[in-house]
Amino acid sequence: MTTDDSTTTTVYTDDDADASYIDGKTVAVLGYGSQGHAHAQNLADSGVDVVVGLREDSSSRAAAEADGLPVETPRDAAETADIVSVLVPDTVQPAVYEEIAPALEPGDTLQFAHGFNVHYNQIRPAEGVDVTMIAPKSPGHIVRRNYERGEGTPGLLAVYRNATGEATQEALAYAHAIGCTRAGVVETTFREETETDLFGEQAVLCGGVTSLIKQGYETLVDAGYSPEMAYFECMNEMKLIVDLMYEGGLGEMWDSVSDTAEYGGLTRGDEIVDEHARENMEEVLEAVQDGTFAREWITENQAGRPSYDQLRQAETAHDIEAVGEELRGLFAWADDEPTEQEEDATPPQADD
Ligand code: NAD
Ligand code: MG
Repeated sequence: MTTDDSTTTTVYTDDDADASYIDGKTVAVLGYGSQGHAHAQNLADSGVDVVVGLREDSSSRAAAEADGLPVETPRDAAETADIVSVLVPDTVQPAVYEEIAPALEPGDTLQFAHGFNVHYNQIRPAEGVDVTMIAPKSPGHIVRRNYERGEGTPGLLAVYRNATGEATQEALAYAHAIGCTRAGVVETTFREETETDLFGEQAVLCGGVTSLIKQGYETLVDAGYSPEMAYFECMNEMKLIVDLMYEGGLGEMWDSVSDTAEYGGLTRGDEIVDEHARENMEEVLEAVQDGTFAREWITENQAGRPSYDQLRQAETAHDIEAVGEELRGLFAWADDEPTEQEEDATPPQADD
């Protein structure tokens, strides 16, 4: 275990995990999608008893059985389990929880990979049940692939309720069994994980980046430049820049671009994403913190996702999508040597 003095963040590794806290226990993995298939197989390969919980009519049943795992209904799986790992989509977790709640006994553990439902009280676990989170910071197929290669996937650990007094040790043993402690597991809370995750995907990653790309593209096209050039400059090159930052931070990116690009970027970047954007970010964060976003999203789902469907359609219809599809189709060379992302772009069927 290492503690970063500047932030007092605790990072757990293999040495901190004691497998005896999970040995002899049965884990019910509910859901066999991105995270579910990876947790279930890694746990089983680590010698943990695993039963997969899926609905009778689930299209994932065949995959779990083909992987040699026993499959039961979520309720029956929870009945036999000591640890119930809830890995169905966040929007269906409350309904699945109602189904399995009677099977949970004091001393059992409810284990999550994201804190949304517990943090926003959509799931209220019964007293006496430990509530923990091990959240790998990667899609499931990477969690599985890293494990098979003897490597680890970084993850987060949080304990919402420690009824038994052993919740942290058991969560660490779980993290060890899926390979996360090989890389490092950062201690956090359900609140921090949920709020930073939602903020990041809304303001910076999924929301912020796509808006930046579209606004840049539209600015060039509206000024009379060709859509193809606008696509290359504002969308295609994004990956090259992000890859450099991923590898070596902002510094490696600035070192790799021309001095002209560096000077232009350093002087103009803050003019684009300015204090107004910063205020908007603070508002987005506030809506995450006070539950406004969560309520909106829950209501949207209850209503059958009318706005969501509309927004998705509008995004698909944006010019940049047609231009991009055409240009990517022309890159025959791009097929010769698939990037790592492309190699990985085949997660298991997860759409039931
Ligand atoms: P997913 O959508 O890939 O898989 C969900 C699985 O749940 C399906 O394959 C199916 O087996 C089952 N399922 C689907 N609909 C169902 C229904 N109506 N009733 C019962 N079962 C149903 O989900 P995921 O992305 O693996 O997410 C699982 C959890 O992991 C979520 O809490 C998510 O936030 C978290 N998480 C995901 C990732 C990721 O990269 N995918 C990363 C970290 C944490
Ligand atoms: Mg039980």
